[in-house]
Amino acid sequence: MAVRGKVAVGVNGYGTIGRRVAWAAGLQPDMELVGVVKTKPDYAAAQAMSAGIPVYVPGEAEAERFRKAGLEVSGTIRDLLREVDVIVDATPDGVGATYSKLYREAGVKAIFQGGEEASVAQVSFSALCNYDEAVGKDSARVVSCNTTGLLRSICAINSAVGVRAVNAFLVRRAADMHEVKRGPINSVVLNPPRVPSHHAGDVRTVLPWLDITTAAVVVPTTLMHVHYVTMKLKGNASREEVLDALRSSPRVLVVSASKSGVEGTSQIIDAARHIRPRGDVPELVVFEESVLSKGDEVSFIQAVHQESIVVPENVDAIRALTGLSDGEQSVKLTNYALGIGKLPGLSF
Ligand code: NAD
Repeated sequence: MAVRGKVAVGVNGYGTIGRRVAWAAGLQPDMELVGVVKTKPDYAAAQAMSAGIPVYVPGEAEAERFRKAGLEVSGTIRDLLREVDVIVDATPDGVGATYSKLYREAGVKAIFQGGEEASVAQVSFSALCNYDEAVGKDSARVVSCNTTGLLRSICAINSAVGVRAVNAFLVRRAADMHEVKRGPINSVVLNPPRVPSHHAGDVRTVLPWLDITTAAVVVPTTLMHVHYVTMKLKGNASREEVLDALRSSPRVLVVSASKSGVEGTSQIIDAARHIRPRGDVPELVVFEESVLSKGDEVSFIQAVHQESIVVPENVDAIRALTGLSDGEQSVKLTNYALGIGKLPGLSF
């Protein structure tokens, strides 16, 4: 049931991804954020309430915990589901699947995140690769941050010159800001200790035809992931052609070290902190001077801000499921509302 002509959106799970998706949906001209679901009466719940966002809970036990903490909730998730057209599930890995029956029974379209198995939804989604496949479906899974990053560059280069095969080495951040118990503190951990990592299979949930191998390690940093990507193309392409393909993608930032002084992830986040809410960088960052081309082979280094790269994808998935607009228009609308595409000081 659209509220005042807008699609009514709820968010279940108000952590790293849920808080950002709720914020982003609230900024869209064609969406209304109806409420969010929280399990604990912590600082994030209090901040949502003070921002005027109605907070719901999974059940009566949680409502009682909130009451004891002096916070009054707007109801349970069942109440929220009666008010929304789409629920974005941003609960921890594997928890989303436990809610899928509830969403179906409520007749609400559902968007899941990359921590769920692909089978949780009718389609795995990446806006610039397969928007049309999600149009009108009842459920979609926005693929993980690393997979979204890989798909951004693969689909940009595939549209321009054609990609035959991909090999990628992923250096993953250890934890997000609020995850105080995660490591490693002093190790480079193979993740997993065999090849391929699960990311190759995850990319193929969107591009089933692609020959791709991935390997991953985890390092003690919280800011961003970094990938070294090698692609075999369908024909020869010059370095300039590859750079043009990346630059013309609406969600890729090609950053020049010589022009910006940026040589690593901390400088990207430092620059973003001064001009972006929370210091988010939802664009895929490609380091310009790392791009090498030799005949039909290209390689480069890219960086992924794990906390925000999937946020615009979730917004586009809402439009795709509800048939609000076509892919190109949705990406434009989302980018405009969230200020994606240029990061002054980094893009020229
Ligand atoms: P998170 O731990 O930051 O947030 C999850 C939230 O859900 C927390 O607020 C938690 O209290 C709440 N929650 C736990 N159990 C719940 C329940 N039963 N019902 C309702 N809420 C519950 O997790 P996150 O990092 O935001 O990840 C959410 C999803 O997004 C996962 O599938 C993850 O794989 C995916 N994802 C995460 C990242 C990232 O880097 N953080 C990037 C892309 C995708």
